[in-house]
Amino acid sequence: MHNKTIKELSALLQSKQVSSVELATHYLDRIEASSHNAFLHLDRERTLAQASAADARIAAGSAGPLTGVPIAHKDIFVTRGWRTTAGSKMLANYESPFDATVVDRFAKAGMVTLGKVNLDEFAMGSANENSAFGPVKNPWDPLAVPGGSSGGSAAAIAARLAPAATATDTGGSIRQPAAFCGVTGIKPTYGRVSRFGMIAFASSLDQGGPIAQTAEDCALLLNEMIGFDERDSTSLTAEQGNVVEDFSRDLNKPLNGLRIGVPKEYFGEGLASDVESAVRAALDQFVKLGASLVEISLPKTALSIPTYYIIAPAEASSNLSRFDGVRYGHRASEYKDLQDMYRKTRAEGFGREVQRRIMVGTYVLCHGYYDAYYVQAQKIRRLIADDFQAAFADKCDVIMGPVAPTVAWDLGSKANDPVANYLADIFTLSTSLAGLPGMSIPVGFGQGEKNGKRPVGLQIIGNYFAEAKLLNIAHQYQQVTDWHTRAPEGV
Ligand code: GLN
Repeated sequence: MHNKTIKELSALLQSKQVSSVELATHYLDRIEASSHNAFLHLDRERTLAQASAADARIAAGSAGPLTGVPIAHKDIFVTRGWRTTAGSKMLANYESPFDATVVDRFAKAGMVTLGKVNLDEFAMGSANENSAFGPVKNPWDPLAVPGGSSGGSAAAIAARLAPAATATDTGGSIRQPAAFCGVTGIKPTYGRVSRFGMIAFASSLDQGGPIAQTAEDCALLLNEMIGFDERDSTSLTAEQGNVVEDFSRDLNKPLNGLRIGVPKEYFGEGLASDVESAVRAALDQFVKLGASLVEISLPKTALSIPTYYIIAPAEASSNLSRFDGVRYGHRASEYKDLQDMYRKTRAEGFGREVQRRIMVGTYVLCHGYYDAYYVQAQKIRRLIADDFQAAFADKCDVIMGPVAPTVAWDLGSKANDPVANYLADIFTLSTSLAGLPGMSIPVGFGQGEKNGKRPVGLQIIGNYFAEAKLLNIAHQYQQVTDWHTRAPEGV
């Protein structure tokens, strides 16, 4: 049952071969018996109540395609009823009085919340090792990281603990964990999915999206996620291009004539050979499907790391100022005065990486350094976006390359080396800085350092609002390959 896709589960639910309560119970039992540390909070009663409501809706004939299907939410989307911690001690006991728009939309579609999944603290990280609640283990290899920050979301899909999961991507956090765990994920164009109730990390970059087994499933999930939300000031309207579309509609278009841009900067030094061969084999497969490969250049790729690691911490330092021990979340138990309370609260509540980013962010924004760092980074951000537009203008329709330079690394091996983590983001950051949609699909396996195989992801990047095209391309690939159907041993 748990190897089934959302599409398949939906058919079983609609034809009443399985009930939503049975399905939810099955997944909850699996989650409770699992040892990946993917889930942070469960509430069986609440989940089963949602499942019975879904069953009633199916019985009444008013169900939609997702009604009764279980979903796990990244613990950065606020949820009524389940705690929302953002992976931080700061919010260890926080319960939101309202649901994030994304959570609300899935609930209205009749989806059943299985629980909240683990992540890097405030979504800052590339390995899920920055969670205050312990790292997630990669279901393919317990010695490997699952990727981050949406490590819990990707691991939950890979271990078949949920058929669907929400995730967020600020600089790669949907694509990279999806790649490391051998599942499919898509980060939409910035502004298409509401950020309301998604705890802010870097507001000009944060974007929600789905992770599931297949592109077809991601299309079903995006159908509910995308659309204008008046409660998010950066949400794009339909007039601006954020049209609510049926992403399932064009999945079967042939790929004849598709021009795939292959950036030479994504295949240089630093790309592990096992990742490169799996990615090249996938590109060959696309040629067989009728596409052609064009070499392109994204010359500012190397600058994406310093640019992102100025802009993201700058925005984070501002966003995280709200955690001051006054309004909600952790408050130090002993302090002398207000200043002392702020200081102790934040020193106790935030982990090391979050503190590091707040310090870097505050530094690059301060008088005297603002022009040298922050303004400069904003200018380079524009140039990075221009690189993509130059490629899309006349050379290619989409861009493909690796998601990350290596397969998942060993747990602990980079835990004390923030720069090593940052460098691994080289292929995902530019897309985020430009606000473009990007996706990751499984295309093979590489070698773990000690153990067996670790998945490789192919990144597919499109121009603004090209989600339907990306999903079509990914679906065509998944029709002729079976990487997306593989599950780790014992699952
Ligand atoms: N790895 C990047 C970082 O640490 C991206 C994280 C994300 O996309 N949320 O900031």
